[in-house]
Amino acid sequence: MPLTECQNVDTPTPQQLQVTIAQLDQAIYNHEQWYKNVTRVLILRIPPEGPDLMPDAHRRCLFGQWYESLSEVFLKEHPTFVSLGPVHENMHISARVLLKRVADGLPISVEDFDRFNNLLDNMRLEFQALRHELAEMVQNRDPLTGARNRASLLAYLREQQALVERGVQVCSIAMVDLDHFKRVNDEHGHAAGDAVLVVTVKCLQALVRQYDRIYRYGGEEFLVCMPGITLEQARNAAERMRVAIADQGVPYGTDQSLRVTASFGVASITQSRSVEDCIACADKAMYAAKAAGRNCVSVEP
Ligand code: GH3
Ligand code: MG
Ligand code: MG
Repeated sequence: MPLTECQNVDTPTPQQLQVTIAQLDQAIYNHEQWYKNVTRVLILRIPPEGPDLMPDAHRRCLFGQWYESLSEVFLKEHPTFVSLGPVHENMHISARVLLKRVADGLPISVEDFDRFNNLLDNMRLEFQALRHELAEMVQNRDPLTGARNRASLLAYLREQQALVERGVQVCSIAMVDLDHFKRVNDEHGHAAGDAVLVVTVKCLQALVRQYDRIYRYGGEEFLVCMPGITLEQARNAAERMRVAIADQGVPYGTDQSLRVTASFGVASITQSRSVEDCIACADKAMYAAKAAGRNCVSVEP
């Protein structure tokens, strides 16, 4: 599959993630308030709220309004966020059955009541799973670029290596180092340098597949982990990334734009080498690319 087929362009920064977590907390709180009101109606058998009896009740509750109106692509495509939609809707459908019985002055069956409670539990589990995953993302992200930080890199590569050892998959990595980056800072200022780092990660993110990972390995150095990709495929992927970075103008200041290039070192994760040695191989290849004149890809077999 060409790498551009599955674009994944939205990399949230930890600040964006914090805002999203705060919104989610508010949405969860709102749903608990909704639940309190539903139990009040069920126990006291008082008239239910109109919107809860509507077929689209799940869009009318405050959580549903937040869920439907969200614009952050990274969250809208997050698998747990996606699966929360039908879980929340089913819970509202079963709540509507109970509330309609109250509105019609009819008794509620044990089955309907238990079904509602089970669906409510499912929804709360999904809420907590999403919150947990977002909090974990904050911990593992570099604040400037939104790339992953190194905290979980070795553990992740060891998992990948375990899959390689069992013959489940191949896996390759690319070390990416911006060329003459010190000059960017010296000639255009540190803020311009920061902008280059942010744009570089967005550029890489747009080219990798959803399950590839980009780590900020050092100041202007990134490690891209590509599961399921052979050494030769990784060389091609790195070549596409190299061209994309070199072609990209980074806007800064009022109407200025600057260009950077990067050198790439590619290696595969193998059974015979430790993951530390695999990283060292990619690093060695990256230095070979520097020695070969920069703005190129080098491979370490
Ligand atoms: P080479 O082509 O050999 O890689 O040269 P280089 O200038 O890129 O490499 P060098 O290691 O000499 O310089 C890296 C520079 O990256 C120095 C450092 O100030 C800068 N840098 C590291 N982290 C950041 C950052 O977060 N923001 C900015 N603006 N600059 C950074
Ligand atoms: Mg550099
Ligand atoms: Mg460097």
